[in-house]
Amino acid sequence: SKAQLFEKGTKVNITFKDVAGLDEAKVEVMEIVDFLKSPKKYTNLGGKIPKGALLVGPPGTGKTLLAKAMAGEAQVPFFSVSGSDFVEMFVGVGAGRVRDLFKQAREKAPCVIFIDEIDAIGRARGRNAMMSNDERENTLNQLLVEMDGFSGETGIIILAATNRPDVLDSALLRPGRFDRQISIDRPDIKGREDIFKVHLKPIKTSQTLDIFKLAEQTPGFAGADIANICNEAALIAARKGKDSVEMIDFQDAIDRVIGGLEKKNKIISPDE
Ligand code: ATP
Repeated sequence: SKAQLFEKGTKVNITFKDVAGLDEAKVEVMEIVDFLKSPKKYTNLGGKIPKGALLVGPPGTGKTLLAKAMAGEAQVPFFSVSGSDFVEMFVGVGAGRVRDLFKQAREKAPCVIFIDEIDAIGRARGRNAMMSNDERENTLNQLLVEMDGFSGETGIIILAATNRPDVLDSALLRPGRFDRQISIDRPDIKGREDIFKVHLKPIKTSQTLDIFKLAEQTPGFAGADIANICNEAALIAARKGKDSVEMIDFQDAIDRVIGGLEKKNKIISPDE
């Protein structure tokens, strides 16, 4: 999902229990939460606290959710921007916004900054047709300047998300910048079952609902698709005047979401 344009130091009440599956990613992220909670414990022994991590994985797999949960667990404010918000900006505007963002973050530290779709500003030089290269480079340079301008003890953790780590400018991946990568994959069957359980919580389901079967019927689905199915199924059942959501409603919802995904893929790859 799209990060709000400049979510500014919002208080978050999402925690790790809202994030299903992603067990390995959670372990890595918990380490970072601990840096935010007790920086001294680490710096006392002379270690340098990392400033950021790159969350790598396909759309809708929970990267934004995990970044938010991190802020929620550490009970620190959450700032977010999307790289795509910087596309088509006038000269100087992108760099100015990056400067503003970090200024506010420093005032509210400890905090988490989340940069969604970082590839939109962080592509290696000369590879982005969407933004004039000069302006994109200004924005990227400002981001690098800001990242170098504070130390790990400041208590600012920057998480950035991408599904194209291969196109990123290597300057972003250097030590002291996004030198850690956390991979966020599409869920396996167990992961999907757990994601269904999270999103079924607010829904009145029939007693005969078979969650394992739902997980079986949704290979390749991301968390966002599963959230979507649960909501669709509730709406379908309500439209039929039912007082609980049944397996058949979920099956209809799955068919709809598959239909939607097929359409989307057609638009993405017009060659087919
Ligand atoms: P994008 O790259 O498109 O921004 P993303 O990886 O950041 O996607 P999110 O925005 O975190 O994905 O996920 C969208 C929604 O899908 C979440 O708000 C949540 O409702 C649901 N979702 C995704 N992954 C999970 C998960 N692992 N557990 C529970 N819910 C999930």
